[in-house]
Amino acid sequence: EPVLELRSVTAGYHRRTPVLRGVSLTLGAGEAVGLSGPSGCGKSTLARVAALLHRPWEGTVRLEGRPARGFRFRAPREQRTAVGVVFQQPRLAADPRLTLAALIAEPARATGRYPELADRAAALAEAVGLSPGLLARRPHQVSDGQLQRACLARALLLRPRLLICDEMTAMLDAATTAALVAVVEDYRREHGAALLAAGHDRVLLRRWCGTVVDLDGTVVDPDGTRVDPEAGA
Ligand code: ADP
Ligand code: ADP
Repeated sequence: EPVLELRSVTAGYHRRTPVLRGVSLTLGAGEAVGLSGPSGCGKSTLARVAALLHRPWEGTVRLEGRPARGFRFRAPREQRTAVGVVFQQPRLAADPRLTLAALIAEPARATGRYPELADRAAALAEAVGLSPGLLARRPHQVSDGQLQRACLARALLLRPRLLICDEMTAMLDAATTAALVAVVEDYRREHGAALLAAGHDRVLLRRWCGTVVDLDGTVVDPDGTRVDPEAGA
C-alpha cells in the first residue's frame, strides 16, 4: 500500500478560491517525488495537507492505507509521527529557548522516548554535520544553515515513513544544500521512506527526485485530472 495517497484534494484558505483543486498524488515506500511550480502555486499548501497540518476542504488523505483521522492538533500521534517535515525557514520552526541538541531531541521528549532515542539524536547530529560546540548553542547563535541542519535531524529522529521537505534548501548555500540532500537520500535508501520535496528550483529537484510534478495552478481538474508522478515526468 502507498505511504501517502491524496485523492481529489481541494484546499484553500478563508473560503476564498481554492489553492488546490482536485489534486491526487500517490507516493510509495522508497519513492521520491518533487513538487515544483512558481511561488504561490500551492506547493506549501499541498505539503501541509500531506503533513496533516492543513485540513483540505474536500478529498481524502491516506497515510499507510489509513484515512487521516484529524488535522493539526487533532491529528493522532501515530499518524503525526509517521511524517517528518522540514520547512523553508528554520527560525519559524525552532523554539528559540532550546539548544540545538535539545531541538533535535524534541520529538523524543514529546513522545516520552527520550533516553531510548538519545543515541540516535547524537548520531543524527553528527550525520547532519553539527559539532558538539554547535549543539550547545541556541538558534540565535547559529546560522540559518546550521539551524536547518538541526531541523532536518529533528525531522528524522522518529524514523518517519514519509519525509516532507518544503523548500528545505531555499535559504541555504550550495555546500549546506548538498550536505542536507545527501542526508535525506541516505535516510530514504536506508529506511525505504517516501520523500515529498517541494521547491522552485526544478533542476535541483530533478537531480534529487527523478520524478517532478509541476503544480502550477493550472492542473485544475474538473473531471478528476490527476496530478501524479507520470504527469510531471
Ligand atoms: P507555494 O508554496 O507554491 O509558494 P503556497 O501553498 O504557499 O504556495 O500558497 C498558495 C496560495 O495560498 C498563495 O496565494 C498564498 O498567498 C495562499 N496562502 C498560503 N498560505 C496561506 C494562509 N495561511 N492564509 C491565506 N492564504 C494563504
Ligand atoms: P512559501 O512560498 O514558501 O509558502 P510564503 O511567503 O508564501 O512562503 O508563505 C510563508 C508563510 O506565510 C506560510 O506559513 C503561509 O501559510 C503564510 N502565507 C502565505 N500567503 C499568505 C496569505 N495570503 N495570507 C496569510 N498567510 C499567508
